[in-house]
Amino acid sequence: MTETTPQALRAEALESLLVEKGLLDPATVDQVIVQYNERVGPMNGARVVAKAWTNPEFRKRLLADGTSAIAELGLEGAQTDKLVVVENTSDVHNLVVCTLCSCYPWAVLGLPPKWYKDPAYRSRVVREPRKVLEEFGVALAGDKAIRVWDSSAEVRYMVLPEPPADGRGLSEAALAERVTRDSMIGVEIL
Ligand code: FE
Repeated sequence: MTETTPQALRAEALESLLVEKGLLDPATVDQVIVQYNERVGPMNGARVVAKAWTNPEFRKRLLADGTSAIAELGLEGAQTDKLVVVENTSDVHNLVVCTLCSCYPWAVLGLPPKWYKDPAYRSRVVREPRKVLEEFGVALAGDKAIRVWDSSAEVRYMVLPEPPADGRGLSEAALAERVTRDSMIGVEIL
């Protein structure tokens, strides 16, 4: 794939320079790209969520210590050294942002969507979360509390969404199929 955005060209120039100076092995770069295209993505977070829905003990561990709970599923590293999972309930809706830049739990959600890095989302979600949610198509009951969590280099947040109303009786694997990336950021209701 050929990309010609200024960012892509800059990244390519930087890679060539580092390879030329012997500081970087091109095979390593390819490995990282394959890793993030094929093995790391929201499907990992979806597995975590479905397990929490079907296994109350795992749910408890996940809410107590996200980092060690996801390690049980072989997920680690990739910006989740301190992962905090916040649970949506009938009373509280959680929403995640990084007001400073784009901190995001890669191991469970993959790479952040473009809008997550947008200065408009980052500033507005703090000031007017209900309105921003409406723009995402999420209309919350007026008495439902909204909590906005600011991810940082130290702590990254992921939302444990409420299960879909028609999900009763589904297997863990079938439930995982229903979990979306946006629901784990808090901008979608399942
Ligand atoms: Fe950030």
